[in-house]
Order: sequence, then structure tokens, then C-alpha cells
Amino acid sequence: MNDERFWSYVVKGPRESDCWIWTGAVADDGYGRFWTATPHGQKVIRPHRYAVQQTLEENLTPSTITRHTCDLPICVHADVNEETTHLITGDAVENSLDRMIRNRVRNGHDTLTGTGIARKARAERMRALRDHTRTHGYDPDAVRAAIAGATLDQATLF
Ligand SMILES: [Zn+2]
Repeated sequence: MNDERFWSYVVKGPRESDCWIWTGAVADDGYGRFWTATPHGQKVIRPHRYAVQQTLEENLTPSTITRHTCDLPICVHADVNEETTHLITGDAVENSLDRMIRNRVRNGHDTLTGTGIARKARAERMRALRDHTRTHGYDPDAVRAAIAGATLDQATLF
């Protein structure tokens, strides 16, 4: 029931390697929000984590980090196949190390991530992509632009 409702918000790209775009609510951190009904009332979860849980058929613990390999916060492409999944899980240490390495590659030096400006810009970019996808369906150019924007926004901070 929740599952069907969840996937009704998802627009999948046609190719196996494409992102799956979440078209439901997007919060101020740039990540989606999905509300589920429980016996104790409504519960909110990030859609990419929900997708991972559905795919792995197990609940993630709060300390388990779910990371996008595609750098698109509203992507929910979870797959048991490590070759095609856009979402991998790991602990906080792995995550921060990996992020540091990626930023170094991207900008030539370490950067601060998750600042207020970057967060706001990211949320705006994700909402724009969501709205575009709702209207036009999956658009590879729009997805590429939304991902590339992350790099540009981070670069302009320095
Ligand atoms: Zn993706």
C-alpha cells in the first residue's frame, strides 16, 4: 500500500543507468520527504532511504548513511545490483572520507559542504528538477544540469 503510493511519485529514466526522480515533497535540505502511516501516526522518511529499505527488504538503522553515487539528492534508484544502483550504504566515517576525496577531486582542495547557501541552492535546484519532471517526464538534460549545478554552486563559494 505504502509501496504503491511511494512508486507513484517516482519517474524512472529509460536506461538502466538513469536516475529515478522523486517527484513528491522536497524539503529545505534538497532531499525528498515521504510520509507513511503507522499505527502511531504519520512517520516521515527520506525517499532514497525508503527506496533502499524496500530494495534490501530491511530497515536501515538511524546511523546508517545512505549515499548517492550520482550526486542527485532526489534520486531514488536503489538496486541490489552494485553495478546499477545509485545508492550505497555505509557508516558515517566512510561517508565523510568519501565526500572529502570527491570534493578534493572536484575543486582541487577541500571545501566546506552543507553550508546554508549551498543547501538553499540545492533545494531550489531539486525542486526545479522535480517540477520539470512532473510536467515533462524524464529529461536527461535537466537531470545532467541539476547534477552539474551542485559542482558550480560549491565552486562559487570559494
Ligand atoms: Zn541517480
